[in-house]
This record gives sequence, C-alpha cells and structure tokens, in this order.
Amino acid sequence: MRKLAAGNWKMNGLKADLAEIAALVGAHSGADCDVLICPPATLLAPMAEAAAGRIAIGGQDCHAKTSGAHTGDISAQMLKDAGASAVILGHSERRADHGESDADVAAKSLAAYAAGLTAVICVGETEAERDAGSTLEVIGAQLAGSVPEGATALNTVIAYEPVWAIGTGRTPTLEQIAEVHDVIRETLGKAFGEEAKGMRLLYGGSVKPSNAEEIFAVSNVDGALVGGASLKARDFGAIIAAL
Ligand code: PEP
Repeated sequence: MRKLAAGNWKMNGLKADLAEIAALVGAHSGADCDVLICPPATLLAPMAEAAAGRIAIGGQDCHAKTSGAHTGDISAQMLKDAGASAVILGHSERRADHGESDADVAAKSLAAYAAGLTAVICVGETEAERDAGSTLEVIGAQLAGSVPEGATALNTVIAYEPVWAIGTGRTPTLEQIAEVHDVIRETLGKAFGEEAKGMRLLYGGSVKPSNAEEIFAVSNVDGALVGGASLKARDFGAIIAAL
C-alpha cells in the first residue's frame, strides 16, 4: 500500500510560510509516498497553488452541513473548492476544545465523502485511559462511533494519535503502537470487510526525523500524521524520506 505522510499545521502559518511548501515540493516531488499538508484555512488556496498538484492539501475540520447559518464554520465543499482533497476530522484538540463527539465526527466524515474529500479520522486515548488499561476499548468505541458506513480505502484514513503523545515529545513504545494498529485493522475489517485492508493507518504523536524510521517499520503503520515537525520543510522532508 502506498504510504502517506500528512502534516497538520494546526493554528500556525502565515503567507510568509508558504516558502516551506515551495521547498517541500521542490525537494520531495519524487517521493515514493503520498504527501498531504493541512494548513489553516486561510492558507488553503495559496498553498494549493504553490503545491501545483505535486503534494495534496487538506483542511483541519469541516462542518457537517453543506452551507447555511453557521458563522465561522467551513463546509467540506468549501475546502474542496479551495483546492483541498482531504480533511482531518476528530482531532483530539477539536474533541477537547470544541466538544466534538464521535457522532459529530461521523457526520462530518459523511459530509467529506459527499464533497469528494478523504476523511483523515483521528482516534486516541488519554493518558488516564491508558493508565487505566482501557486503551483498546476506547479506540474501539471511537472507531465504531466516528467511522461511518460508506467508508472505503479511498475515502478514509485512520490516524491513531494518543492524546498524551501529541506535542509532548513522548511516544508509545513500538509494541504499544503495533498493538493498537493491529487492533484498528482488525476492528475495521469486522466493519468494512476487504475494504479495510487498503485503509491507511497513520500513527501521530511526536513523530520527528529521529524516530520516524522505527515507527514506520511497525506492523500496520502506513504513514504518519505529523504536527510540529511538519512546519519546516527540512524536518518534514526527513520524515518523508524515512517512509
Ligand atoms: C497532531 O497534532 O496531529 C500531532 C501529531 O502533533 P505533534 O506531531 O506535534 O505531536
């Protein structure tokens, strides 16, 4: 399966930072994997132009509705119109800061599919949940609630992002990553049959050039969702090179 390096810029990036994209496109246009950058909405259109189709551009969230009285929100169709081909949904920061539930994420995913976007659906346990030994149960419930019927290998990517590993410099052991990714593949298989075999499963949480290679070697890890280290072409380029 073709691997995917996805970058989540979160609430970072101004026009001046588009130079990073130009550098990334220039340095890695021949990369043997797919590359996706999800900038803030303000940079979607200029970034899509700078990427010129050589790397994919995505949103970081969308509304479940197509249009209407939802001040401050952006629809999946609008993301597509601005040049996006994917959207991150259910990131733990959205779940925590905006109270997004699994049902919200499922509804947004359906909106993404309808607009022709790939949904990058995030799941992950908190530190308290891991300490309580309920990681697999939490991930199972998030998958069941967040990934809607109609999910296919083409329209859906799952990102396993332990909340306690995001932006902390801490990562699970390789065995812990393998355990969760194997269970995600198995759970998706029960829900979506053969289609699940082709769904890409990304690991996310403090991926950096120094740990990318060992993480990418783990069973059922088909790429990464990268936050901080995706902001600079040099770091993200090194992660892409490790895929
Ligand atoms: C993220 O927010 O999706 C993420 C993985 O962040 P970081 O790589 O900075 O831990």
